[in-house]
Amino acid sequence: MTAAFDAATLANRATSALRAYDPGHDLPALRLQFGAVLSELGSNENPLGPSPLAMRAATRVLEDIWRYPDPLGAALKHRLSSELGVPVSGITLGNGSHELLMLLAQCFADADHPVVHSQYGFAVFPIAAAAAGAPSVAVPALPADHPEAPYGHDLDAIAAAVTPSTRLVYLANPNNPTGTWFTDAALEDFLGKVPAHTLVVVDEAYHEYVDAAGLSTAMHLLGRFPNLIVTRTFSKAYALAGLRIGYMLSHPSVAAVCERLRESFNVNGVALAAAEASLGDHEHRARVRETNHRDRAWLADELTARGLRVLPSQTNFLLVDLGRDAVAFEAHLFERGVIVRPMVGYRLPHTVRISVGSRAELQRLLENLP
Ligand SMILES: *Cc1c(COP(=O)(O)O)cnc(C)c1O
Repeated sequence: MTAAFDAATLANRATSALRAYDPGHDLPALRLQFGAVLSELGSNENPLGPSPLAMRAATRVLEDIWRYPDPLGAALKHRLSSELGVPVSGITLGNGSHELLMLLAQCFADADHPVVHSQYGFAVFPIAAAAAGAPSVAVPALPADHPEAPYGHDLDAIAAAVTPSTRLVYLANPNNPTGTWFTDAALEDFLGKVPAHTLVVVDEAYHEYVDAAGLSTAMHLLGRFPNLIVTRTFSKAYALAGLRIGYMLSHPSVAAVCERLRESFNVNGVALAAAEASLGDHEHRARVRETNHRDRAWLADELTARGLRVLPSQTNFLLVDLGRDAVAFEAHLFERGVIVRPMVGYRLPHTVRISVGSRAELQRLLENLP
């Protein structure tokens, strides 16, 4: 008898070590089932939606979808360049920042050049390492009862874990799923300890939401530390998650290496146009920030008043430590059309991540808590 065909046995070494992304629930089916009362608080999407200017720009570009997009994304890069004060040669565009995080490992890490990240750092970091066939080192996080950053990045321990062969360090500031952050000064201190041949990636997916004292961006350190790389996304505050677009700021030589492996048309024309238009809508961006700031504080208070432990957050979500297994909690809400994310995959089985959705969604969450 011949054995049943199974391509899993044929996967290369790097892929053998990986598991497919867990998409959570079947959202299209749930939208049909629950309609308008479904509360989608699982993916950190922005309930205000994109800028109307982005919507208009995207619609206009639909006429051109029979053409390939600009492989250089020149118009968006120029816009980013003037908005942020960085040279065009130091900007790389990605199909979401996820793609850029993967690309960095593919270009710079390998079996002899490990990747370092924090325990409870963003899930893509170890996957990027594995896909590149590189060992990854998960540095123990700060303790659960840390006053400022429970489960957060321990920068001293991360610096100590860097060896002469470490090629990449991934940090997320603020981090998903913990919501925690470190200050600009702490990052500067960290960069002073890391050798120049170790690239330090700071994932700033939630940058547009931050307002804590001492926290702005790693971008200002790019000039002093050529090994620093900053990634950002249009998926969160700009509410363009469905279009898949992000960007990376780096030394031009880092961008040039990534350019060798980047797919020529990795970012579609609709995304390019919408992202560019978004950058021009300062008013919408301010509204997004203020709304999130207000509703995040309100949600944290409401949850705390119900006896739940809410961790500090500089993002558009809250990590809630239930002190007990989160599976039953999540299932209870799910049956009532409220979607939150248990952090089992992160080995934080007693926590759930809850996005700061619309007030109506958050009300339904509070009404349906177990
Ligand atoms: C959401 C998120 C991303 C961005 O993902 P995209 O691929 O740009 O949609 C990157 N890093 C972190 C930490 C995130 O939470």
